[in-house]
Amino acid sequence: MKAVRFVGVGKPAEVVDIPKPEPKAGEVLVKIGGAGVCHSDLHVLQRGIGIDRPFTLGHENAGWVAALGSGVKNWKEGDAVAVYGPWGCGYCHACTQSFENYCENWKPGKAYGGGLGTDGGMAEYMIVPSERLLVSLGKLNPKDAAPLSDAALTPYHAIKRALPLLTPETTVVVLGVGGLGHMAVQLLKCLSSARLVAGDVDEAKLAMAKKLGADLTVNTKNPDAAEKINQFTGPRKATFVLDCVGVQPTVTLATQIVGMNSQLTVAGLGGGKIIMDGSEVPFGCMVSTPYWGSRAELIEVLALAESGKIHAEVTHYKLEDTPSVYHKLDEGMIRGRAVIVP
Ligand code: ZN
Ligand code: ZN
Repeated sequence: MKAVRFVGVGKPAEVVDIPKPEPKAGEVLVKIGGAGVCHSDLHVLQRGIGIDRPFTLGHENAGWVAALGSGVKNWKEGDAVAVYGPWGCGYCHACTQSFENYCENWKPGKAYGGGLGTDGGMAEYMIVPSERLLVSLGKLNPKDAAPLSDAALTPYHAIKRALPLLTPETTVVVLGVGGLGHMAVQLLKCLSSARLVAGDVDEAKLAMAKKLGADLTVNTKNPDAAEKINQFTGPRKATFVLDCVGVQPTVTLATQIVGMNSQLTVAGLGGGKIIMDGSEVPFGCMVSTPYWGSRAELIEVLALAESGKIHAEVTHYKLEDTPSVYHKLDEGMIRGRAVIVP
């Protein structure tokens, strides 16, 4: 079967032929219906994740159960499923609460999940090591729902942590309206009554944010972006800033627009630094860098999608085209999410 492979740090992804895998005891073989193309893949390709061996990329996966290893009880062939991405030990305190994204037994050199150190979903088939890592898609179509397993789950997890602060007179700011950000805008519209500001450097992405329900959109390339947002929020400033990019310009902007007793959450892996010496971050502001989301939260995200309250804006591509899609993503040319359909 064809697969898109990581072959080494600093090298482009390669489309190669590899054998179709067979599920061993406890494993499930999933026929891939869609694999989302995520910005994290660029980090994997360009900076690496401490794992040198080649593996198949793709950590936002959905498809249909194709074969069951012995002992698998809760699924049958043909079931439409999303693959829960962070693969923990399944038994530690975090995993017991379904927060496998915070598994205590993760170690350097160990894969985070399929597509992140071990074979993922940019292939015709993938092996999922345990049936607990599958979630039913219900009526959703794998090629449209695949990105929800990360691009929606990650902001959903971040937003849930801030929800108690988001009363109707507060303002939320989402920075970056790419894959995560365009889901964050929709999630905030259906989960909270706070006013919503979206910032991006790309006017087309801001137009999408407006269409998805943002009350104000601001081009963050403009030097008066912070001033504009602060005028809108008033003296209280933003109660929750969700930075879906995480580069230095966005984290700096975030510290300029966030209020006291607030949350500043950096979900993007852009490497921006925040100084915590009292000069940048207001009093009472909780700064955090959540990672992905829990399995239970994936069930919640899929329920929102199934009821039509959120959807990923997707463009479908052939598996062979993946290297050029990565190039487009790196250039900021992808709107919403690109999905590889093998
Ligand atoms: Zn991702
Ligand atoms: Zn664990």
